[in-house]
Amino acid sequence: MTTDDAGGDARETAPVVHDLAPDCTIDDVDEDEPYLATVNGVVDYGVFVDLSEHVSGLVHESNLAGEYAVGDELVVELEDVREDGDLSFAQVDVDDYSVDAVDHEYDFAAAADLPDALGETVHLAGEVVQIRQTGGPTVFNVQCVADDANAGVVPCAAFAGAGVRAYPEIELGDPVRVTGRVEERDGAVQVEADEFVVLDGDAAADLKQRLDATVQRQAEPADVDTLVEWDALEKLLPDLRDLARELRRTVLESRPIRIRHHADGDGMCAAVPVELALREFIAEVHEDPDAPRHLLKRSPSKAPFYDMEDATRDLNFALEDRDRHGQKLPMLLMLDNGSTEEDTPAYRNLAHYDIPIAVVDHHHPDPDAVGPLLSAHVNPYLHDEDYRVTTGMLCVELARMLRPDLSDDLQHVPAVAGLSDRSQGEAMPDYLDLAGDAGYDDESLEDVSEALDYLAYRLRYDPGRGLVNDALNVGCDDEARHRELVEFLAGQSREAVDRQLDVALPHVDREELANGAALYRIDVENHAHRFTYPAPGKTTAAVHDAMLEEHGGPAITVGFGPDFAVLRSDGVRLDIPEMVEQLQDELPGSGVSGGGHLVVGSIKYVRGKREAVLDALVEKMADAEIDEELGSSVVGDD
Ligand code: MN
Repeated sequence: MTTDDAGGDARETAPVVHDLAPDCTIDDVDEDEPYLATVNGVVDYGVFVDLSEHVSGLVHESNLAGEYAVGDELVVELEDVREDGDLSFAQVDVDDYSVDAVDHEYDFAAAADLPDALGETVHLAGEVVQIRQTGGPTVFNVQCVADDANAGVVPCAAFAGAGVRAYPEIELGDPVRVTGRVEERDGAVQVEADEFVVLDGDAAADLKQRLDATVQRQAEPADVDTLVEWDALEKLLPDLRDLARELRRTVLESRPIRIRHHADGDGMCAAVPVELALREFIAEVHEDPDAPRHLLKRSPSKAPFYDMEDATRDLNFALEDRDRHGQKLPMLLMLDNGSTEEDTPAYRNLAHYDIPIAVVDHHHPDPDAVGPLLSAHVNPYLHDEDYRVTTGMLCVELARMLRPDLSDDLQHVPAVAGLSDRSQGEAMPDYLDLAGDAGYDDESLEDVSEALDYLAYRLRYDPGRGLVNDALNVGCDDEARHRELVEFLAGQSREAVDRQLDVALPHVDREELANGAALYRIDVENHAHRFTYPAPGKTTAAVHDAMLEEHGGPAITVGFGPDFAVLRSDGVRLDIPEMVEQLQDELPGSGVSGGGHLVVGSIKYVRGKREAVLDALVEKMADAEIDEELGSSVVGDD
């Protein structure tokens, strides 16, 4: 009760009478305080009153002054709570009073506490992040907050009839309060909702503020030291940390994540650890055990860029998932691809919808073309570094920021990534040592890389979940199987490459360029097995390696088909993206496109212009500077 501390006469201040909100319970009632009550029944020995929907009791005639009828209002205070929970009140005699509205103080449950609260009735506060209509109930996924606990997503089922949408007024993004029983369903926690209330006013604002603060705290990536000390990698950490934060926030907000990655060894070394880390984080945040499957998809890219076919399929699935399962539109995460102008038509198509796009890549970027279309772009070239920091190396650090506990399981992965892309980064010896600590010698790492190449080809557009995990030994529970699988696949790969070389090598043309580099040409269309492993990119790389071994460098190898050429080089300062641009200017009507890395890449052209394009290309190669320090790397763009 208020008192007048200023020293005035207390009797001049009107007393305060509390008015309970309908959802208030006995927990909101204080002894010796006056409350507004409404008569709901009259009996011989007194009247029954309601203080709220959940607080009712008797005012005995001995505690009652005057006569009352149903619907009359009076002021009471709590007299007694009996052992059986029955309440009795006494009338308080006040004439002049002011009214103070009392809201129910909910004790909101945290998502993580629900498994220990089976059978109990709980209150949840949160935002509706998905609405799924089943053949039975409507399932609302609610992102719940409670005090200092982490936010978590809880499925809340409401039944209005089989297949009938319950609470049709509730929309995605609404702030809600849910009251219901905690049940176990298919081994997971679900709340059978008795009541859904859409919050408004102060309650909604308060919830939003708490949710924002919780998500901001929970989205913060782990502060881990990099696996190796490397200045080039260090420069990229702030960008990686920002992306880790964005990914964690995306999971917390129940937005699905679509991973597309380069279909090669480095691309897999990038995508698989990030996939595993996100899967674990999704499982931590979501009570629904199917959430990782619904919210995360990984697929190799069809082309060495995000082509329209992939983008159209992704968009199609995203819109179907939205309509059929009430899911949000996804975030696209491009790994070891996605930095170039060739990616932009697909990106622009997605931009018609709310689909953020993030890229981690180490191919030579066109930041002016892609930058405006991306929410995040992590690429060593944006920091004066180059392809030697491979995407796999970057993504292992990204995965560790998401799930530091995975560090031990990932320590061999950067070495595999580096070998796959033939990185000559300064940190390669350290990465090889690190893999050595995990039980991998250099030869076994080469085998893993070879096995991944082979799998990438055989899987084509399939993600190969499980199989790729076993081959890379990430999220694989049987190390012996991993070793056997790798040995087998690497063996298959080498046999196939040897068969290809037997056919191709007798047809390699060698010439010496003006700059002193050797040029090797191989017609991979007519002098190699087609439509089988190894594809033209790897065939060209194998020919290049064989020539280098026999004759030394500097050397360039061109593997050409009717409308494409794959380039490999060692010790020659090529700039393939630049050469492609020049050819486009010099040879109109040739349809030249392509790129890749600076010294390794592929280009396309129309069949009728093959001779003209190859001649012009060789001229440019003959002008290129020799740089014996410069090694080659593999882009695998076949
Ligand atoms: Mn790569």
